[in-house]
Amino acid sequence: MAFKIINKDGRTAARTGILETKNGTIETPVFMPVGTIGTVKSLSPFEIYDEGFRIMLSNTYHLFLRPGTDVIQKFGSLRNFTGYKGSILTDSGGFQIFSLAKFAKIKDEGVEFMSHIDGETHFFTPERVIEIQQTLDSDIMMQLDVFSGPGAKREKAEKDLDTTLRWAEKSIKAKNGTASAIPKNMLFLITQGNFFEDLREKSAAIMSGMDADGYAVGGLAVGETKETMLRMLEISASNLPENKPRYLMGVGTPSDIVNAVSLGIDMFDCVLPTRNARNGFVFTSRGTVNIKNSSYKSETLPIDPECGCFCCKNFSAAYVRHAFMSREIFAQRLLTIHNLHFYQNLILRIRRSIGDGSFYDFSKNYSSLF
Ligand SMILES: [Zn+2]
Repeated sequence: MAFKIINKDGRTAARTGILETKNGTIETPVFMPVGTIGTVKSLSPFEIYDEGFRIMLSNTYHLFLRPGTDVIQKFGSLRNFTGYKGSILTDSGGFQIFSLAKFAKIKDEGVEFMSHIDGETHFFTPERVIEIQQTLDSDIMMQLDVFSGPGAKREKAEKDLDTTLRWAEKSIKAKNGTASAIPKNMLFLITQGNFFEDLREKSAAIMSGMDADGYAVGGLAVGETKETMLRMLEISASNLPENKPRYLMGVGTPSDIVNAVSLGIDMFDCVLPTRNARNGFVFTSRGTVNIKNSSYKSETLPIDPECGCFCCKNFSAAYVRHAFMSREIFAQRLLTIHNLHFYQNLILRIRRSIGDGSFYDFSKNYSSLF
């Protein structure tokens, strides 16, 4: 079996598990660093692996546009192309088409969109997106879905969900119809439903009846309140099969992750640790700090004396701040390493506490600093 639950928390829906992909074993809950184009900004794929990340996220939309699947095909897989030793999950591009492309026109069979890079028009069908991800040889492929966006009216949310459900079936058929050469590319479906409780429930319930390897919750953390996000997440997660991995897409802050784990989420990705690092925002055991703050100007201690990352083990906050203020690339690297280490450490603490039965207390006491 590809996914096995190891420990279940008695007081929340949290669980630990093992996910077997064609290229490795992944302990869950897991955080996947975002390497949209096959690179986590400023770091090498080797550094990502050495930091303990056994799976990263890349994006079909971006890789299809640049460098193009014909280039990656020459290497046999995205994994070979990047040199990353872990597993790779590729997002389908649904979210990116609706948030990045110059226009996106939904038709029954797929979506027509204009590249944000060169303005060229492309047409993605659910089948084509599976085919592209098979060419990338992604460990985990995502279905093409429709992201309604914040503020969508009910009628639009309902129509978009019906399209997403239809495309989910087509994606499964496309995967199963492939010759047995690549049977181990897993396929996750993406539950949607915007911010309508019954649509969220409908999406999860219908998709649960489809033969997917796992399920994602999409379309959240796009500007709604935390309460709304957690409510929608709870409905989606609680209506998904117990024995399949559940992935919350693009979320979130450290406390979002703790809350989502308590609702039964196993997998996460988010640009927050890496993007914040490049902007000088650092997660520490004392909360989020800004490296530009003048209090660090002559600070001889590391950014977070409790952190054991490469940055904190070797450099003072004053040095990192100086490099950051001087716009040195090295400072961005150091802060990215630190923030990812912080996220990895959080995940390890979550796993440990689920294992020893202390997750409920841990989650209740978890710092509201984030
Ligand atoms: Zn550190």
